[in-house]
Amino acid sequence: MEQLVTSDFKLGIIAGGQLGKMLVLAASNWDIKTFILDTDHHCPASTCCTNYVRGNQLDYEDVIRFGEMVDMITFEIENVNIEALQKLKSEGKKIFPDPDTLRIIWDKGLQKEFYRNNQIPSAQFLLFKSKAEIIEAATTGEIPFPFVQKLRKGGYDGKGVAIIHTQYDLKNLLDGDSIIEKLVEIQTEISVIVARNCKGETKCFPVAEMEFNEANMVEKLICPSSLDEKILQHANGIAIKLIASLNLCGLLSVEMFVDKYNDVWINEIAPRPHNSGHHTIESIETSQYEQLLRAIFNFPLGSTKLKMPSVMINLLGEPDYEGSVKYEGLTDCMSIEGVKIHLYGKRITKPYRKMGHVTVIATSIDEAKQKACIVRQKLRVKSW
Ligand code: ADP
Repeated sequence: MEQLVTSDFKLGIIAGGQLGKMLVLAASNWDIKTFILDTDHHCPASTCCTNYVRGNQLDYEDVIRFGEMVDMITFEIENVNIEALQKLKSEGKKIFPDPDTLRIIWDKGLQKEFYRNNQIPSAQFLLFKSKAEIIEAATTGEIPFPFVQKLRKGGYDGKGVAIIHTQYDLKNLLDGDSIIEKLVEIQTEISVIVARNCKGETKCFPVAEMEFNEANMVEKLICPSSLDEKILQHANGIAIKLIASLNLCGLLSVEMFVDKYNDVWINEIAPRPHNSGHHTIESIETSQYEQLLRAIFNFPLGSTKLKMPSVMINLLGEPDYEGSVKYEGLTDCMSIEGVKIHLYGKRITKPYRKMGHVTVIATSIDEAKQKACIVRQKLRVKSW
């Protein structure tokens, strides 16, 4: 692959959000030219990529046109026009991860069937076509309370999920093709990011533990996890089995539940860099972005050894502010040792919009947590 990493090699990245931006920055270390496809010419990656291409990742023609400009394609979002990717693949374009794998992951129903067929632990499920069908099945007792409904396509950050405890909650059901899952008695939620190159070498990043806010977005991400080593090894084993079963070349983020009996269940997966891997830039020897590049260029995978414990917090738009963004408290936070601030460059803030993140590295998790609390209080995303 050495000859591919030259100043002429063009890597196409579908969508230019914060994950795309951080991937572009990693690619620039190897002098790879990066092309970004996004509808917004002010998207976070637009200021640092080699070429910005305006277009919609869900539009067949836009994806084809973009694909023809580049030597290889990867993505930072899984909501992509898969038919266009398949057409490009049939013409010989290198696409990582493979569009066939993307098709399975894109649809939570196919994802769950894949887990069942490959003996990968995930909560029991049934498939339904509509809200009315679910109400009927709940009323006749076919699905016992409590349960969780997930729309098969398009959910993110908890949107597209309804937790139904009793019949009174049935009014909260969402309409559309859904899976119904058994409610797991969650002790904690963890994330394992695993990489696999095209030779089949795999490597996991240390397990990170997640804490959520009231809007169901990750509030704090703690690495390393304090869970028992046996549970962590088990979680890594599940992630490695899954990426190999999917024959995926690239990066797979695997969100899992640890239940109150210490059993581990897959919740959901994403075949790309992930919010739960932001901390890898500062706290791990190889970042998730460099690891993705190593995997798709078929280089040896980098070390995933922990350099420093870390706590990552998302910088979300304050609930009562919308408009041109203004950050408060930057100077104070910059003076705290180990506080690494990432601003994505989004011009407009909205309630709970992800505007940036902060990784706090310290010699202990307790110290990192204390500093993260100070940053959380001081650093505010508001509007003018
Ligand atoms: P999204 O993709 O929108 O983030 P998730 O599938 O991660 O949605 O679900 C959002 C949250 O709902 C999870 O973080 C978890 O707290 C809860 N949840 C989802 N599935 C289950 C389940 N089977 N049992 C218990 N809680 C669940």
